[in-house]
Amino acid sequence: MNTCRSCGAGDLTVFLSLGKLPLADGLLKPQDLADTEPRYPLDVALCGACSLVQILHTVPAEELFCRDYPYFSSYSDTLLTHSRKNVEHLIASRGLGSQSLVVELASNDGYLLQYFVAAGVPVLGIDPAEGPARVATDRGIPTLCTFFTRELAAQLRSEGKQADVIIGNNVLAHVPDLNGFVAGIATLLKEDGVVVIEAPYVRDLIDHNEFDTIYHEHLCYYSVTSANALFRRHGLTLVDVERLSIHGGSLRLYAQRGVREPSATVRAMLAAEADSGMTRLDYYRGFAARVDGVKRQLGDLTRSLRAQGKRLAGYGAAAKGTILLNYVGMGADVLDFVVDRNVHKQGRFVPGVRLPIRSPEALLSEMPDYVLILPWNFKDEILAQQHTYRERGGQFIVPIPEPVVV
Ligand code: ZN
Repeated sequence: MNTCRSCGAGDLTVFLSLGKLPLADGLLKPQDLADTEPRYPLDVALCGACSLVQILHTVPAEELFCRDYPYFSSYSDTLLTHSRKNVEHLIASRGLGSQSLVVELASNDGYLLQYFVAAGVPVLGIDPAEGPARVATDRGIPTLCTFFTRELAAQLRSEGKQADVIIGNNVLAHVPDLNGFVAGIATLLKEDGVVVIEAPYVRDLIDHNEFDTIYHEHLCYYSVTSANALFRRHGLTLVDVERLSIHGGSLRLYAQRGVREPSATVRAMLAAEADSGMTRLDYYRGFAARVDGVKRQLGDLTRSLRAQGKRLAGYGAAAKGTILLNYVGMGADVLDFVVDRNVHKQGRFVPGVRLPIRSPEALLSEMPDYVLILPWNFKDEILAQQHTYRERGGQFIVPIPEPVVV
């Protein structure tokens, strides 16, 4: 990839290279352990024309999402509460009812649409991952198991379907054909409808050393500036924006069709991004050195604990865990195993470092001295769940923004 995924300009400058890493979500089955895993480069660049931060290498989407994709959103209490509140707000603020239509792109297992269904608002989920889409359908949430494209949007519209609300949470980062995707949103949205998109905020990524949120599935990392340019290209106006704490810091972007007046918050955030230099390379220059610092500190800490005879495990076989463990180089010589609440992940192995994934009960039966929290964005939820392990003397390590023992 040598042109921008959004604006097509050839003005891309790499500011971080994480090396060649395995696919973050490609958990291995026991029979996969005999094979060599594919590894792909992770080079992160800034577009000098539209300010979009993006990785250069694209792994084919079919390879990423149509396989046995083990991520089920409903396993996180934090995410469910976050989603329910968002739904309640949208129903009230948009006056949604039995005549409305809410479409969610990347609807997963129906973790969010279930709350609209419960309130009597018609929904349509769209998600290419077969496992989660099947779970959603079984729960009574109409779901199309396919990719959302400009063509699919045109087909739905020709069938008389247009949406009052389109939701896309943590999907915009994953889309290879960004312009086709946003054009499809503009097609599927009613004249006065609203699209609500959540995406990790690149400002939080850079400011808090969240390098492990960079993986092959995440092609783009948004600012208000770069999202604004993308929407405008397709006749959408960014009318409002909120900053959210979820996933280490995210944006919730609201866009509508046509030329409209952006909110004071949109104008203020665009000005703040320009003032702090986020549209220029200097802002991103020191990031690689800080990421290397986290790698060194975490390596030193875990090696010194091992040297004292301590036993270590990991919590949460999330995508960011694959990146962190492989980039820092923490395999079976450092961690005995990783635990995860998701039964679909148990019995499998973390890509690259090949650590076995067990149920969280293993923390109590094995009592490792320290547990490294890999999905640090859910650390409060994990610490609360694991109070028994802590009462018995177990300690946790949070790796990001800097490694600390809690
Ligand atoms: Zn660009």
